[in-house]
Amino acid sequence: MKALVKSKAEPGLWLEDVPTPQIGINDILIEVIKTSICGTDVHIYNWDAWAQKTIRVPMAIGHEFVGRIVEIGSNVHDFAVGDLVSAEGHVVCGRCRNCLAGRRHLCTSPKGIGVNRDGAFAEYIAVPVTNVWYCDTSISTDILSCFDPLGNAAHTALSFNLVGEDVLITGAGPIGCMAAAIARQVGARHVVVTDVNPYRLELAKRMGATLALDVRTGRLADAQKQLGMKEGFDVGMEMSGNPEALREMIANMAHGGKIALLGILPRTEIEWDFVVFNGLTIKGIYGREMYETWYKVTMLIQGGLDLGPLITHRFHYTDFQKGFDAMRSGNSGKVVLSWHD
Ligand code: NAD
Ligand code: ZN
Repeated sequence: MKALVKSKAEPGLWLEDVPTPQIGINDILIEVIKTSICGTDVHIYNWDAWAQKTIRVPMAIGHEFVGRIVEIGSNVHDFAVGDLVSAEGHVVCGRCRNCLAGRRHLCTSPKGIGVNRDGAFAEYIAVPVTNVWYCDTSISTDILSCFDPLGNAAHTALSFNLVGEDVLITGAGPIGCMAAAIARQVGARHVVVTDVNPYRLELAKRMGATLALDVRTGRLADAQKQLGMKEGFDVGMEMSGNPEALREMIANMAHGGKIALLGILPRTEIEWDFVVFNGLTIKGIYGREMYETWYKVTMLIQGGLDLGPLITHRFHYTDFQKGFDAMRSGNSGKVVLSWHD
């Protein structure tokens, strides 16, 4: 089969012929229909310091996908050939305290599809049945291919009650934009999204941001005045991975405000006085809750969550280079590659 393989320890990705995966008794073989490109895939493409220490080559990468079941292991009884499915990107150990208690997103040793084991940018992928998510076939395969990052956005956005609250999202990347749409859908009042990229700020507006602020030229304090806010943001979602964005967020929260941290930040100084004296709560977010987040994403879409503007580029997998170029330019929402359509 064809797969996008990180075959050399250098920048780039290579379309190669690799063996179709064999399944074990508890696995499912999926024919991939569509995949979407994640920031993680771009790190692997670029071969940055994180990728160099994490990825073993050669390996097929990618973890955001939707496909159809073509084969099921002999121990699997609750899925059938032909089912439309996606899969959770973290394969958990199943044996640690958190896994046994049902808190699988807090597993002590999760393995990432397309990071620590063969990925989904391929014609077929094999995954354990415990990772498979049965898809609502009324949702488009474009959107279903993005359920993994949508889950990141939903896990973050639903960490705190947003009803009637003023929300700050730092970073209008695909996940920040999805979080803005979710925040509006669940009843937030103002949703201010910041970025330094005009393309993405425009996307955030189309995804439902009340105000999209370019922090190169505008200040959060002025944005609050413009919206008639008096006491700061009630809920913050850090989705840029930029330390300055986090510092600005912490400085602009209401007393008692709650922050969910998804962005992966380098080591950085924090003004702890704001956290302590203003009584802030900070919660780290990793992955998705299995499978409450997947359920919520499906129900939010069924309830009218509009993700229309999210996918900005679509390519056949043989044009993967164009897809990665679009992602690497920063001027994109989600980029979808089709495999069997
Ligand atoms: P992305 O890189 O596409 O988007 C980040 C955005 O932040 C970009 O548009 C960038 O222009 C913007 N930005 C840069 N500096 C900024 C600043 N000072 N203020 C405001 N915005 C600024 O990333 P994404 O795919 O949307 O993911 C969002 C973040 O979440 C990333 O940091 C990613 O690594 C992280 N992430 C974490 C998890 C997890 O499980 N914790 C999972 C997926 C992604
Ligand atoms: Zn575990």
